[in-house]
Amino acid sequence: YHELCESHRSTKILRAPIICVLGHVDAGKTTILDNLRQTHVQDNEAGGITQQIGATNVPLETIYKRTEMCRKMITRKDDFIIPGLLIIDTPGHEIFKNLRSLGSSFCDLAILVVDIMHGLAPQTIESIELLTKRQIPFIIALNKIDLLYDWKSNNKENIELVLQEQSQITKNHFEKRYNDIICQFAQQNLNVALYYKNPDPNEFYSIVPTSARSGDGMGSLIALIIEKCQTTLTKRLTYTDELQATVMEVKSNYGYGTTIDIVLINGHLSVGDKIIIAGQEGPIVTQIRRLLIPESNQELRVTNQYQTHEKVKGACGIRILATDLEKSMVGLPLFVARQTDEIDYFKNEIETILKTILNS
Ligand code: GDP
Repeated sequence: YHELCESHRSTKILRAPIICVLGHVDAGKTTILDNLRQTHVQDNEAGGITQQIGATNVPLETIYKRTEMCRKMITRKDDFIIPGLLIIDTPGHEIFKNLRSLGSSFCDLAILVVDIMHGLAPQTIESIELLTKRQIPFIIALNKIDLLYDWKSNNKENIELVLQEQSQITKNHFEKRYNDIICQFAQQNLNVALYYKNPDPNEFYSIVPTSARSGDGMGSLIALIIEKCQTTLTKRLTYTDELQATVMEVKSNYGYGTTIDIVLINGHLSVGDKIIIAGQEGPIVTQIRRLLIPESNQELRVTNQYQTHEKVKGACGIRILATDLEKSMVGLPLFVARQTDEIDYFKNEIETILKTILNS
């Protein structure tokens, strides 16, 4: 009985998992991100808007809708226990280089994007090394399946069925590419398998064939993310009120002055909180004036439609308005002093972190 209560309690307080997308250049990371967030950032980039860091909250309703055709992949089909997904907008492993003081705590689950036509490439291998070193679980999106010979696109069905319904010649082409890529992973000492043939998810990394362009397999990819989060990752995703937050970006906004975009992983923040972050000339102590969250499914940089909040809970991406943020540094933690004597304590913490960075 006690155990039942415990499990019930813990399921009630899962936070949104933080998802990162990694892989070689041109594998389709940005297109996958766009599809997951249902935004069209790539079009903006093509129009010259530079890549910036943010995080997108994908709410449950969207996830329910998008996994309709493959709900059978999810053990808890109708009562998801995660409150949504938090997707880091910047693709690539470079993002981790800015986060060196944070260890592996940042990303809960990664999507490793591999171009089915090209297989593993240098940045795929760098990404694998980074993920395995930091023990970050990942799912492989074998992307661009629409480029297989005579591929018949269908984004309304789960990808297992869509593959079954291809002509023999398309299936053969898939098998050949797939087998090559399995060998390339084996050379990196990794066992991988199609998610629906995976003999042991603890031993084999799952592969989901996708076309980020047509959307084929994207529902299956999302379903697999949900399933993993709600089974093997529940412990990690249990919400704790101990603050864990990272500064992702410093921005100068017309009308708002300098603001910081942060990812709040655990804990809560309120207007009026005294925050301590790293600055180029030492710790910065300031007070939260406003907390802004872009509307659902819109990321921090694309929109001007913000909702202001008095209090926010992890995990989410938020923009903070406060004074004295001009010299803030990114990739480092944000602390809150709930008591006055904690200010000095956290200033010391920041100084220690800054010293470590200078010496590394
Ligand atoms: P990134 O460098 O990994 O972020 O890759 P992008 O998302 O920018 O994609 C690189 C190119 O591949 C772009 O021209 C995309 O339109 C294209 N692309 C991405 N995903 C797919 C896909 O599933 N199928 C096809 N045919 N092209 C894709």
